[in-house]
Amino acid sequence: MPKKSAASAAHAEASVKLSSRGVARLQARHPWVYRSDIVGADDIPPGALVRVLDPRGKFLGTALYSSSSQIAIRMISHGSVADLPALVAERIRAAIAYRKGLVRNTDACRIVFSEADFLPGLIVDRYNDVVTLQILTQAMDAAPVREAILQTLRNEEDLQPAGIVERVDARIRELEQLPPLSSRLLWGEKSSTVIHMNGGNRNGGNMNGWMTSGEGSNAVRFHYDGLEGQKTGAFLDQRENYAAAAEYARGEALDAFCYQGGFALHLATRCANVTGVDSSRPALEMAEKNALLNGRELEWIEGNAFDLLREYAAANRRYDTIVLDPPAFAKTKRDLEKALGGYKELNLRALKMLRPGGILVTCSCSFHVGASDFLGVVAGAARDAHKSLRLLENRGAAKDHPMLVNVPETSYLKCLILSVSQ
Ligand code: SAH
Repeated sequence: MPKKSAASAAHAEASVKLSSRGVARLQARHPWVYRSDIVGADDIPPGALVRVLDPRGKFLGTALYSSSSQIAIRMISHGSVADLPALVAERIRAAIAYRKGLVRNTDACRIVFSEADFLPGLIVDRYNDVVTLQILTQAMDAAPVREAILQTLRNEEDLQPAGIVERVDARIRELEQLPPLSSRLLWGEKSSTVIHMNGGNRNGGNMNGWMTSGEGSNAVRFHYDGLEGQKTGAFLDQRENYAAAAEYARGEALDAFCYQGGFALHLATRCANVTGVDSSRPALEMAEKNALLNGRELEWIEGNAFDLLREYAAANRRYDTIVLDPPAFAKTKRDLEKALGGYKELNLRALKMLRPGGILVTCSCSFHVGASDFLGVVAGAARDAHKSLRLLENRGAAKDHPMLVNVPETSYLKCLILSVSQ
């Protein structure tokens, strides 16, 4: 039988039968079923919508099928789906409505976060008037689905983008056996802009909630370019943590792994001196442009943060505020022990340099390092540094990066804010 293209599979025609273990996963409200838990399947085209059945043939819902991923199906509905593009459009509108009540004081936030917004394989971010999208699965790549995504974003009154950019992760397209694409402007004219974060105060939110423009506010500004090679713009998941960190920050501050200055520029609203350290020169060049945009003077140091912290600690340098936001050390479970060692070392060095009463903001974005593992590492560092730490805030990703409580994979970012005594 010739393979149908995914584009024609707007409603589910094929079925997959799950093992009882696969059924148990769905009953636990996890949307993924691995290929090893599929016990029977029709000839299914890549990216098709499939009817999901239990071992006895009972209908469980509708899923998106991938012919290449180990995650063979991702549930999209516990009922039937007559029209996938229409469902995707409706879910995008619901994701926007969800954020309207939650996201304040910014014109930059994540609008769609894949499984956490019941749209597996789709990520959409808003950077002021530039909207970016990422497509990570075969089903979302089908032409009618793409068209529905684009139309919905273009026509959404609460967005009104001047440009829509597709950002391509070449490795994921290859894994999903999708034809290669490059990042490009999909619609409109604009691919770069200026974004505004954390205007107004954190608790009161006296700015106009979901901002259409940050002009005239006390927001921190950043350049954003959707077509630059490296991921640009701030890390949106840290947005609320920037504001939280700034609330406690004071004195002399160090932002280790500063990238384009996300924490550093927020600290600069409170601190006398701020130094940012990163190993990437292009990131620091953008950080300096961001400093100019905000009318601030900061010191940027290009180098290895591990070495610098070691040198500074040995030279008895002292700070009042230190932020640690390294890249994910544990990319897989196997890296866990090594990753924990890396976090411990960084936190130990930072604690040695913090004055009594100082503030440590320490982050981990490794999914494999759990929240309690991370707290344990920080506790171990405090013990070795002979300091007591009080936990001020135990934080995660910003609310526009929702976490589904039954889907651990949607939770990865940890951000602890601690006060150093003795
Ligand atoms: N805090 C930043 C995000 C940090 S991402 C923000 O909120 O925007 C991690 C950063 O660590 C990247 O910019 C990367 O260039 C940098 N990096 C990776 N390894 C490093 C090292 N050994 N020393 C210093 N910087 C490093």
